[in-house]
Amino acid sequence: REQLKAQGKQTGTPAKRVHVIGAGVMGGDIAAWCAYKGLTVSLQDQDGGRLATAIGRAQQLYARKFRRDLRGARAAADRLIPDPQGAGVAHADIVIEAISENLEAKLGLYREIAPRMKADAILATNTSSLRLEDLSQGLPGGRQLVGIHFFNPVASMPLVEVVHTDATPPALRARAAAFVGQLDKLALPVRSAPGFLVNAVLAPYMLEAMRCVDEGLAPSSVDAAMEAFGMPMGPLELADTVGLDIAMAAGKQLSDGEQPPACLVRLVDGGKLGRKSGKGFYIWE
Ligand code: NAD
Repeated sequence: REQLKAQGKQTGTPAKRVHVIGAGVMGGDIAAWCAYKGLTVSLQDQDGGRLATAIGRAQQLYARKFRRDLRGARAAADRLIPDPQGAGVAHADIVIEAISENLEAKLGLYREIAPRMKADAILATNTSSLRLEDLSQGLPGGRQLVGIHFFNPVASMPLVEVVHTDATPPALRARAAAFVGQLDKLALPVRSAPGFLVNAVLAPYMLEAMRCVDEGLAPSSVDAAMEAFGMPMGPLELADTVGLDIAMAAGKQLSDGEQPPACLVRLVDGGKLGRKSGKGFYIWE
């Protein structure tokens, strides 16, 4: 932990303005956390409904964190600016892309935003499963991309993976880690590889729990067993929290062609994607 804290030590000027693109499960919560930590944040999404939901979730976070300090909550909320047209790209010290997990969509977005960014701004992706090498292809103006991979739920997960390739300049890695430190998170440097580190370990664990459900165990029994073992949350509740479509994509990427568990396929095909859709292994109010 001390070593990871040291990774996130500030080396240059701290970031002041962040622009987050994608106000879904992750982007919305990343933006909310950055504003909570004192940064000015513009949040962009092509879907006005997702943007409004993310702003509402941020207000709930500030109400929880600031409790009776209404002024603090208000100040944090004021620092988080909905920006449907993405004007904030031009002023940001760091742009974090957290749009849907689709290579072409991400490449198209980078082509559009890179020329509008400040010359020394960091371009970061929150991708879980796409290769940084593929995402870095043909970035305009010789711009470099770094992975800053947050975990869900952002507000309670202390670790953030800082993803690099052999081509990532050390100074960019250091600046990305310093940004993570600025957010009071621990920066774990990882190489661009399937699942990076945490998901490479976690995905087989979640998939095995789903295979227990295929064999007839109730999700709540599997989760209760792992919670009794000492895990803070059972693997199926965790899968519901991550999103079952995301869990499926991660499982496919990491399972060497093995078929995904039948219960997972059934739920995803039925549009039951976990917490975000209200139903998954559990019903979420
Ligand atoms: P999500 O589907 O909840 O949100 C994606 C958002 O991006 C949507 O609101 C969509 O409207 C918006 N969007 C799509 N294309 C856009 C564009 N061109 N311009 C502006 N907005 C656009 O997805 P998510 O679960 O938040 O995942 C986002 C990224 O974070 C993915 O790369 C995913 O791999 C990664 N990630 C997800 C998790 C997780 O637990 N869900 C964890 C870590 C990382």
